[in-house]
Amino acid sequence: MVFCNAHLMMKHNNSLSFILSHTSTSKFVFPREDNLGDMTDAGQADLPKDGKYEGFANVNDAIITELKTLLSADVLTDDHGSEVPPTLLASALTMALCYIHRAEKECPVGQKLKSRLMILKAAPDVSAQYMPIMNCIFAAQKSNTVIDACVLDEQSGFLQQAADITGGVYLKVPQPVALLQYLLWVFLPEPTVREQLVLPTSVHIDYRAACFCHRRLVDIGFVCSVCLSIYCQFIPLCLTCQTRFKLPALPMARPKKKKKENTAPRK
Ligand SMILES: [Zn+2]
Ligand SMILES: [Zn+2]
Repeated sequence: MVFCNAHLMMKHNNSLSFILSHTSTSKFVFPREDNLGDMTDAGQADLPKDGKYEGFANVNDAIITELKTLLSADVLTDDHGSEVPPTLLASALTMALCYIHRAEKECPVGQKLKSRLMILKAAPDVSAQYMPIMNCIFAAQKSNTVIDACVLDEQSGFLQQAADITGGVYLKVPQPVALLQYLLWVFLPEPTVREQLVLPTSVHIDYRAACFCHRRLVDIGFVCSVCLSIYCQFIPLCLTCQTRFKLPALPMARPKKKKKENTAPRK
């Protein structure tokens, strides 16, 4: 909340949207879902409480209320036993990109919206979400949206790629106690200012891709020469584009055959 308020404080025309992503749902916390239609007045003008600036108070209230609701609902419906279902990161990313797209469309003529996504992640990667997440990353790249990623738990290959492809910053917080300090130092400055700063760089980026057949992360796989689908083992028929491949051991009837290659996962 301090970080969100600091972002709003940086410039008078900075605005903020906050999306919560959980195992069962992703939802807009701020601006509130019933208030989403009105993008120009995201900070609804309630009466200020305790002399707080209402722009900050609204954000904080919304986040606290929604977090409480979500977690209490989760405790009530805690029937998934030991196996925790994956967090719906891809759906939250999609919602954020749609929101940005709409904001860009509604931007007054002559003004340019500089949007960025900041992901605070405390859940492990799920390779089953590889496809939707990669699609989101490329959509963000195309719309010049920078994705920053701050990871609390374990390293995230998806978010490393997201930050690398869109020109954002990826950081695994070494000490969660100092989270706010990392957020303010690393993620608060806007991308144009960052060139002047010495920020942490990702030395090793996990560029492994998930195979389309089992959604497993693979180092080396088979790539369809037509549609670039990735498979962890040889298959005679591409599941995506239905291209037929001849078995490598069979004698070739025609000189030209569609050849499969062992390639490194594509960037
Ligand atoms: Zn596979
Ligand atoms: Zn194919």
